[in-house]
Amino acid sequence: MAHDAPQATGPGKLVIRNIGLLLSGALERPILDADTIVAENGRISAIGRRKDVDTEGATTVVDAHGTTVAPGLIDSHVHPVAGDWTPRQNQIGWIDSFLHGGVTTMISAGEVHMPGRPRDVVGLKAMAIFAQRSFWTLRPGGVKVHAGAPVIECEMVEDDFRELAAAGVKLLGEVGLGGVKDGPTARKMVGWARKYGIQSTIHTGGPSIPGSGLIDKDVVLEADTDVVGHINGGHTALPDDQIRCICEGCKRGLELVHNGNERSALFTLRTAREMGDLNRIILGTDSPAGSGVQPLGILRMISLLSSLGEVPAEIAFCFATGNTARLRALDCGLIEVGRAADFVIMDQAQHSPGRNILESVQLGDLPGIGMTIIDGIVRTQRSRNTPPAGKVPEIVSAH
Ligand SMILES: [Zn+2]
Repeated sequence: MAHDAPQATGPGKLVIRNIGLLLSGALERPILDADTIVAENGRISAIGRRKDVDTEGATTVVDAHGTTVAPGLIDSHVHPVAGDWTPRQNQIGWIDSFLHGGVTTMISAGEVHMPGRPRDVVGLKAMAIFAQRSFWTLRPGGVKVHAGAPVIECEMVEDDFRELAAAGVKLLGEVGLGGVKDGPTARKMVGWARKYGIQSTIHTGGPSIPGSGLIDKDVVLEADTDVVGHINGGHTALPDDQIRCICEGCKRGLELVHNGNERSALFTLRTAREMGDLNRIILGTDSPAGSGVQPLGILRMISLLSSLGEVPAEIAFCFATGNTARLRALDCGLIEVGRAADFVIMDQAQHSPGRNILESVQLGDLPGIGMTIIDGIVRTQRSRNTPPAGKVPEIVSAH
């Protein structure tokens, strides 16, 4: 369908060589033994040792100079409005700023900050379709913003979900931010959404701003959304016993957000680890929000969970890449042939302790980003937001 067509990227062959450390994004094998990636026309076509892969005819060659390459980070929970502007904290250029924090893909949990947001069924459907279209057409900085996430209201009927899906809408905004706050209604509508291929998430925990309400474990489990949105609260988290009930009571994605309760995020992480369910952990910022807009929010979550949650850094990176890609059915997030060529290239920050980037992240520091690449195209070089990296990659040839 026309509205699914990705932005044209043009033909090209990208080679990234001299990779010092390659993070795959996959929990089962988080570090790959390779020093070269080749991407053709925006997709990964080869991964291996330089002598074993075909690097002939490259249109762009990046020398990683021994730095670390990972899949571009995915923010599973954002609230975009229109273009690269948010009225929530009156910021322009926030998405481009996130790119400088390594985020190459964002998923809307509802365009809830749209001034004058319509709440009638025709209006909310129109707004969702508009958001889906406009963010597919305009990618700020190259960032892929999956938007068009309607917030469900009680007056909706099954046909509304069929119509939304047919128009290209693939997501629901957080259940609970609109009029539907009870388990049975939420479950019915989430079921309709799923029937037509629309993914769902829910606002877990106490009210975020005046006018929103409490969504407790019973509503979360009954609604049965694909993702348990901000299980650590946005901002106010549920008590630990309720978080444990949710972890144990379903197999859905467990989303930890920057703008939530950090202690509850660590509690959820430990619970998921005890259950052998780390594959369910995904990360978001839940921004823009009252807490602000955090360009380094995903990196900060990786560092938080790795350092205080005692998770190896290479595993924490999977929470923001491969886990999210798999749960959200995205074509990025993993260093794998056929996947989108979306990368973040980084190194240990200057003067950070630890013998390498992984140790420095496990000690609670952020890495320094040297380059981002989306669909095989270099989008940014040395980040304006992260601490400076010790080593930076370099474009050695571009045709
Ligand atoms: Zn929320």
